[in-house]
Amino acid sequence: MAQPEYVIVRCKTALNRVHGMPFRWSLNPYSGCRHSCVYCFARQFYVKADHGDRTDFAARILVKENFPNVLRQELSKPSWLGESVVLGTATDPYQPAEGRFRLARQTLEALLRHQNPFSMLTKSPLVFRDLDVLSELARVATVRVYFSISSVDLDLWRTVEPGTANPFKRLEVLRALRQAGVPAGVLMAPVMPGLTDSLASIDGVAKSASDHGAMFFEAAPLRLMPTVKEHYMEFVRDEFPDLLARYERAYPGVHAPREYITALQKRIQAVRAGYTFADDHQRERSRQFNPAEHVHQRQLARACVSRLRRHFALKQQRRRQRADYRGSQSKRRGG
Ligand code: SF4
Repeated sequence: MAQPEYVIVRCKTALNRVHGMPFRWSLNPYSGCRHSCVYCFARQFYVKADHGDRTDFAARILVKENFPNVLRQELSKPSWLGESVVLGTATDPYQPAEGRFRLARQTLEALLRHQNPFSMLTKSPLVFRDLDVLSELARVATVRVYFSISSVDLDLWRTVEPGTANPFKRLEVLRALRQAGVPAGVLMAPVMPGLTDSLASIDGVAKSASDHGAMFFEAAPLRLMPTVKEHYMEFVRDEFPDLLARYERAYPGVHAPREYITALQKRIQAVRAGYTFADDHQRERSRQFNPAEHVHQRQLARACVSRLRRHFALKQQRRRQRADYRGSQSKRRGG
């Protein structure tokens, strides 16, 4: 692939409010992603925001240079309650640009400063560079790092994720994070019909995750939003023409047919049953009591109390300043 163009931009906000997802806040220090996965759903956001067309997504990367500064200000506001945030929902925060611009690292440092819980999704071994911040953060807040691995078939990997590092390199970094006490696991997403949805394919990823000490293993089916569908279908037409008719039948809309998803979920469950991930133990121990949730609630409560204290201290200080001012004014009039 040719060298990407990096465009330096300034952002007005860093914390992005999310609707219709299982999380409420996201952080994306870059727009566009050099990893160029053929199924990437973030392409639609890039095109919708008028940053370029679907091929620019991997070639023209927007770098929000003031992102860490804006985030630090937002996290310091009394109105911010320390809710969990997700880093990297519309871009990979550890794509090659991060080696040069270090925005993801500064984002982690800001979160650490505020002991703010967060989770992250990446396909890049570069995250190992920031192990010091991550392990510190994992000690003081709820942290979850997802390594996205769609296949461990190396021929297929090169075709579907042309700009990413070898999945086994990601798994090595996952192991290092786990050894440093950082909760990390594997997200096999998306599972692609006819390419990675067989029992053997799902088992290959789950086994590799287990062998590398993943704390959890999750998987999700392919969704094809409008711009993404255009891009993905072009890929299927070029690389796997035999599958094209099947995809056209299965994806008149965004989702695969319900029966297909049910059957896929059964296969995922069957594979998961063959392995024990650390999260499974934890889930078993906490059927009635979820420690992670408890810790998060405590962090939220602590954040609220300290913000309220700051708020009242500030109010008191202003009241004193007003009283002093009135005193000096009346003295001057009296004098
Ligand atoms: S790494 Fe993630 S954000 Fe980047 S192209 Fe792949 S799916 Fe999209």
